[in-house]
Amino acid sequence: TGEVRFDHVHFGYDPEREILHGVSFAVPAGKTLAIVGPSGAGKSTIARLLFRFYDIQGGRILIDGQDIAQVTQGSLRSAIGIVPQDMVLFNDTVGYNIGYGRAGATQEEIEEAAKAASIHDFIMGLPQGYATRVGERGLKLSGGEKQRVAIARTLLKDPPVLVLDEATSALDSRTETEIQDVLRSIARKRTTLIVAHRLSTVVDADEIIVLEQGRIVERGRHGDLVRAD
Ligand code: ADP
Ligand code: ADP
Repeated sequence: TGEVRFDHVHFGYDPEREILHGVSFAVPAGKTLAIVGPSGAGKSTIARLLFRFYDIQGGRILIDGQDIAQVTQGSLRSAIGIVPQDMVLFNDTVGYNIGYGRAGATQEEIEEAAKAASIHDFIMGLPQGYATRVGERGLKLSGGEKQRVAIARTLLKDPPVLVLDEATSALDSRTETEIQDVLRSIARKRTTLIVAHRLSTVVDADEIIVLEQGRIVERGRHGDLVRAD
């Protein structure tokens, strides 16, 4: 499960000023779609519409064939995990930060859920291991470690659809590469939409769409688009 489809979607925050002019794409379950394009093109808007934060003015958005207009926001939130641009950690321990959304979860419960969501190794990948780090204050972690914690928090819900919104933009390039390797291995296991500025960060996507001023101007695999550049 986790097929995502946009079918001629028209949207404007202000109905008088349309931002997306009939956007269509489909992401088969388990595949990765990257949305690239300049700032202001409407990439983050597409991600927000998936959560039905706003009503669209034309077209349809479908998850597993079901029009999201017919689905409660609560069930959308459990179906879709988002790793946002700016990670905000609570002034509390790593364990609390990962377990947020499961109030009062014990370390054992978090570890169980992490195993079930196949992210155990990922959390363990924190330098020095999870067990010694889980009680540490989240705010003391490095940028890359914070990012891992925030990603783990999203993945713990085991959502069939994952949205990565320029997840690595604030990191130095070594950390960025490291996190991207992690994200790539996670993305392989579920439907993923990546919102990115640059083609170079989405080499492995099954399909890339280039968005400009609310229209898809190109689509294809990385090699095709680079040749066309
Ligand atoms: P991108 O993610 O590609 O940088 P956005 O989806 O953030 O682009 O923005 C697309 C357009 O929508 C821009 O013109 C932006 O100014 C406008 N926009 C974004 N968020 C809002 C909002 N909450 N209210 C009104 N206009 C918005
Ligand atoms: P949780 O389920 O962990 O309590 P929330 O209920 O705060 O999280 O949010 C549910 C999902 O919606 C989360 O993945 C969160 O990142 C995402 N989300 C919340 N607000 C926004 C927003 N303004 N823009 C994009 N995504 C959001």
